[in-house]
Amino acid sequence: MSKMMKAIVSYSPHDYRYEDYPKPEAGPGEIVLKVKGCGICAGDVKAFHGGIRIWGTSSENRYIEAPCIGGHEFYGEVAELGEGVKDYDIGDILVSEQIVPCNECEFCKKGIYWMCTRSAVFGFKQYANGGFAEYIKLGKNCINHKVPKGFTPEQSVLIEPIACGMHAVERAMILHSDVVVIAGLGAIGTSMVNIASLYLPRMIIGIDVRDNRLEMGKKYGADIVLNPMKCHVSEEIKKLTDGLGCDVYIEASGSQRSVTQGINSLKNCGRYVQMGVFAEEVKSDWNIIGDGKELTILGSHLSGLTYDSVIKGIKSGKIKTDGLISHKFKLEDWEAGFKATEAPDAMKIMLIP
Ligand SMILES: [Zn+2]
Ligand SMILES: [Zn+2]
Repeated sequence: MSKMMKAIVSYSPHDYRYEDYPKPEAGPGEIVLKVKGCGICAGDVKAFHGGIRIWGTSSENRYIEAPCIGGHEFYGEVAELGEGVKDYDIGDILVSEQIVPCNECEFCKKGIYWMCTRSAVFGFKQYANGGFAEYIKLGKNCINHKVPKGFTPEQSVLIEPIACGMHAVERAMILHSDVVVIAGLGAIGTSMVNIASLYLPRMIIGIDVRDNRLEMGKKYGADIVLNPMKCHVSEEIKKLTDGLGCDVYIEASGSQRSVTQGINSLKNCGRYVQMGVFAEEVKSDWNIIGDGKELTILGSHLSGLTYDSVIKGIKSGKIKTDGLISHKFKLEDWEAGFKATEAPDAMKIMLIP
């Protein structure tokens, strides 16, 4: 009989169990990590609550392959190397990109692996069980990166979410003359403020409904912060930009109102980047995009070729991480961890096996 480990196994919405699960073993080309920490993503929380993009409306359009182990923001220590694995040694600390590419589809072949049509993210498929466990297997196609010595557990867990934020910022193609708005200052949005500030744009405006997050935004490089509960954001942005509006609006909150706010806040020919994920379909006045302002609408999905830069940025101190992890829980206390994502002072929550 195979050895067992502890893991949080997702069975169905609201039915997650901390239980024994067979410990993975490294086959040829595979690596087993002893998980040292794993962040809770908004996607994990949505999965727990039965999010339709994850559970679908029937078994035919279901994305998640339950029962499986959640969590894609993990890091760990190499515990076992399969036959033929080079480049890594037992004891190395690694992260693996959240997507497990198929290496066969059109996008993988073109190198746009984050758009792989198989779209397998750790934590949602049985062949890509996630990091809410004592051990995790990295399959042959996984894209692994060594975590430099000296990285704290918090920094290691933040590599994945920051890599997603960096991708969204890259999509915005920021110019030095730009006024950049980042809406939604969770751990990723705050980090995007940080990364956008490295481009030295004319102005960065951070938006959030929570004052503690606005404080974080300021610490991370926002010149101005605005709370939509306390002011009319698009009017304020126009006042700050000679009535013209902002050049870039990166939507990182997943709130419907933020979309309309963004389209209204942008100047003619502005760029809108959608990074946040919505609970349902969004309505907005598309005439503003075409006939009105000739806006460019850009999507942002996962992270494309940004892990190395994030690791380099954290190492150099240019990418900051202080305060982005607000709570830490033991893996067995995962329920408290998932609940803490709704706490007023929540940023990123991490679980430690
Ligand atoms: Zn994530
Ligand atoms: Zn593919």
